[in-house]
Amino acid sequence: MSFFRLIEKGEGPIRLFVGGLHGREGLTTIKALKSLGFEDVIDGKLIIYNCDPTSYLSTLKRSYYTKQGREIISLIEYYRPSIYVEAHCYKYYEGLTDPDRKKKMGVPPLIELENGVLIGSVSPHIRTSFFKRTDVCITLEMPCIQDRIDTKVLKTYTNILKIIASIKDRPELEEKLARKYPEQVEIARRYAIEFFGDYPPF
Ligand SMILES: [Zn+2]
Repeated sequence: MSFFRLIEKGEGPIRLFVGGLHGREGLTTIKALKSLGFEDVIDGKLIIYNCDPTSYLSTLKRSYYTKQGREIISLIEYYRPSIYVEAHCYKYYEGLTDPDRKKKMGVPPLIELENGVLIGSVSPHIRTSFFKRTDVCITLEMPCIQDRIDTKVLKTYTNILKIIASIKDRPELEEKLARKYPEQVEIARRYAIEFFGDYPPF
C-alpha cells in the first residue's frame, strides 16, 4: 500500500517528498521517509508520499511523468511545493556518478555526500516546467536495500531528509549542507551553471 503522511505546522513553506518512483525502490525509501515526523518540521507543511512497486521507467524519459509518474504530477499540481524531493535508491553507482553522464544521459552526474548517499537535481522534464527558479528540487539516492539494512547509509539519508524538512528556502539549505559538505555544494553549483545557465544547484 502506498504511504502518505501530511505534517502541518501553520504558515510556511510547502515541502513535498516523494519516494519509490519506479521499480521496487519504494521498499527501500519507505524506511527513511516513514521516520520523518512532526518534530522535524519547524513551520509550514511537509507532505510525504511513497509509491507502491511498479515497473521501472527512468524519470529522464519524458513519458515517465505523463504515464507512470502522473500521480506525482498530481501531487505537485495540488500542493504547489517550493521544496520538492525525490527519494530514490540505486543498484548501479557508477552510472549515476559517471563524470561523462552529461554526454551520455544529458544530465549532470549525481554527487556523493557520504556513505553512498548521492544528491542532484530532478529530471529536466519537470525542473523548469513545474517549478520556479527559486524553488528547491532535489534527487536523493542511496543504495537499494535488499535484505540487509546498512544503518550508516540509512542514517545519512534520513539526516539529509531531516535537514531538507527543516529549511525554509534554498539559501538556508545551501548553508546547512555546506556546513557538512562544502566541496559537494560547490560541485553542485558548478554543475547547475553548466547545465541550466544561471539555475540554482538544487
Ligand atoms: Zn529511482
